Amino acid sequence: MFLFGLVVGSFLNVVGYRVPRRESILSPRSHCTACSHTLQWYELIPIFSWLLLRGRCKSCHTSISVRYPILELVTASLFFATTLYVQDFAHAVAWCVFWALMIAVTATDLTSMRVPNVLSLPGALVTLGIVVLTGTQTWSASLFGAGAGFFVMLFLNLISRGKMGMGDVKLFLSIGAIFGPYGALETLVFASAAGSLVGLAMRFTGLLPPRTYIPFVPYILVGTILTEFFGPRLASWYISAILHLV
Ligand SMILES: [Zn+2]
Repeated sequence: MFLFGLVVGSFLNVVGYRVPRRESILSPRSHCTACSHTLQWYELIPIFSWLLLRGRCKSCHTSISVRYPILELVTASLFFATTLYVQDFAHAVAWCVFWALMIAVTATDLTSMRVPNVLSLPGALVTLGIVVLTGTQTWSASLFGAGAGFFVMLFLNLISRGKMGMGDVKLFLSIGAIFGPYGALETLVFASAAGSLVGLAMRFTGLLPPRTYIPFVPYILVGTILTEFFGPRLASWYISAILHLV
């Protein structure tokens, strides 16, 4: 599952780069985006090729973003963790489909600050369908979760006057569908906490100039990972911390 995740992650990198540019994800073959040099088989091995080439194109020596090996590693780790954590095979398939969607939109947000409708809307339908068909969630929790996620995010979109983008709002249809309403809200809390910490740190160190914004989807991804694998433990830690305070 780890190796399968590496291959899927490699494909999602292509999706993440080409879809916002309205390019085909099937042709042309994988090439350097700087010099169009077509990649040979040994330049297409997830993670290892990037390490082997020391992050540079073999032909023109333009640096290749570290985003590629990182997203491959994250996809592989998520697929592997899901097989350990989710015992039911059908549920694990549903989760892996959801992780693939999350990685794809993380990549589009990182490359173009966008979550394309062509990913978020069919993604929501596919997630809702597979979650209900595999019994990962009841259809009522899934539908209610999708609605709750969407409308809470829409509210944030309106009060932030669009700084929280509509792409993030539509992504919460899928997150609500698989987590249900409470998990969707937990994801939002974790994502906001992670985004605020990193955003403030970058502002104070001058890495993030005023009036510029960081893509939020990577933090939403962090939020979904924390909620799925550490949610109950983090929630009980939080409640006991509050009980100790009062
Ligand atoms: Zn090149």
